[in-house]
Amino acid sequence: MSETVTHDVLRDRYRPLVGGETVPGHGEPYTSRNPATEEPLVDIEMGDESDIDHAVADAAAAFEDWWRQEPQNRGRVLTDLAGAVREHSDRLARLVTLENGKPLSQAESEVEGCARYFEYYAGLADKVQGESVPLGPAHVDFTVREPLGVTAHIVPWNYPLDLFARSVAPALATGNAAVVKPAEYTPVTALEVGTLALEAGVPPGVLNVVPGYGSGAGAALAGHPDVDGVSFTGSVATGREVAKRAVDNINPVHLELGGKSPSVVFPDADLENAIRNTVAGIFVATTGQICLASSRLLLHEDIYEEALDHLVAATEGLSVGPGTDDPDVGPLVSEAQFEKVERYLEAGEAAAGAPLVGGETLDRAGYFVEPTVFEVDDRDARVAQEEIFGPVLSVLSFADEEEAIELANDVDYGLVAGVFTSDIGRAHRFARDVKAGQIYINEWAAGGKGSPFGGYKQSGFGRDKGLEGLDNYTQVKTVSANITV
Ligand code: NAD
Repeated sequence: MSETVTHDVLRDRYRPLVGGETVPGHGEPYTSRNPATEEPLVDIEMGDESDIDHAVADAAAAFEDWWRQEPQNRGRVLTDLAGAVREHSDRLARLVTLENGKPLSQAESEVEGCARYFEYYAGLADKVQGESVPLGPAHVDFTVREPLGVTAHIVPWNYPLDLFARSVAPALATGNAAVVKPAEYTPVTALEVGTLALEAGVPPGVLNVVPGYGSGAGAALAGHPDVDGVSFTGSVATGREVAKRAVDNINPVHLELGGKSPSVVFPDADLENAIRNTVAGIFVATTGQICLASSRLLLHEDIYEEALDHLVAATEGLSVGPGTDDPDVGPLVSEAQFEKVERYLEAGEAAAGAPLVGGETLDRAGYFVEPTVFEVDDRDARVAQEEIFGPVLSVLSFADEEEAIELANDVDYGLVAGVFTSDIGRAHRFARDVKAGQIYINEWAAGGKGSPFGGYKQSGFGRDKGLEGLDNYTQVKTVSANITV
């Protein structure tokens, strides 16, 4: 990465965006790093508890006016924001790649995904309807859906713009005022979109972005007494802490957490399609740092060897390099993530022997790990059970449909699952019996903005995206009138 390109897209420094202005951050400053080079990128003024107080107060002050606007007006403003994101898409995509490391074409898709969320929920702003309830001739009884008020949004670094918009767009469309705490590694794009939102007409205070550390600003936001609802996307351990804080305030919280998702291949599947989708889902999509990674490949024993041949060829054919060169696989986001994945490579070797493919880190600057495949006999091995969040795939075999479903369910998570088969009955039995929030049939990771998304079991509760996504940010009021007096 040349200095020129870096300076082209980055501002000199970044600070919290509160009440429509950039303001000093009072937390310990943070210097972000380019994961492809380990070089410093930019200085971030991080917010602390006092900055969260300030942001929540400004959001509370802005809320009533925003909510009382005509809903179609909120929709128009969010449509304009989607347009502004598209106008700045080249720059935003470069920023995503610089901060997160992901290949440029994936960053471009992510920016478009961000615009699509604003567009999708803009269209719904004036369609959040209540119901009329038949209580008999003496009454008129109906419901209205009202915003919560000030909503808190705590997001991770793996899809910094996509997840920001997935959570913020429905909140703003339904009339809430939001305070966002982006992840430490990736605050820049959230701050950039916050600025675009102001330019697009989102009133000051309606969207506040406070970069900060999880244990300081994040914890303060999750437990703030003047916040009215909490949306959290991240790990199970943090989700548990966030939920406890929210519950202390009797606040609704929804949790989008991790996964260890099975990609299950039967002998009647199109093998090439099954392997291509699985490889994309565990190695290519943000270098395996994706909640819905296809991190467990379950192969029927009759096609085990043939499928492995496809898998090895497809994995060895992947290019690995800096995101700006747009390879198939970029670096991991940070040194901490790199070291975590290294520890899993060691645990994998100890449990399953030498990997079939990969297993090494790259001997160069940057947090690069080879796409790695372990054949795992022990289904309880850590690499077969725990979310690694890196390009590491565990392969297991099964004998029949019953065992496939049992294996698919045999983890603590339940985010997504995929089945590859040409037998429609089997595909739907799998969809019926596997405990996961989304089932893919003969593909991986489909779903426009309208498909609800979220977890069973330890993968969380509540649903983002689609019409269900509106429920996280609204509450129901029932109005009951006696019309006989
Ligand atoms: P993380 O839990 O470490 O951090 C997520 C966010 O929480 C960050 O903004 C962080 O600063 C903040 N945070 C940390 N400690 C906090 C605290 N005590 N109180 C409040 N906030 C705190 O997760 P991560 O490493 O950033 O992200 C990876 C995880 O996110 C993986 O488990 C992945 O599966 C999950 N994820 C889930 C989805 C989904 O939709 N289900 C999507 C993306 C990522």
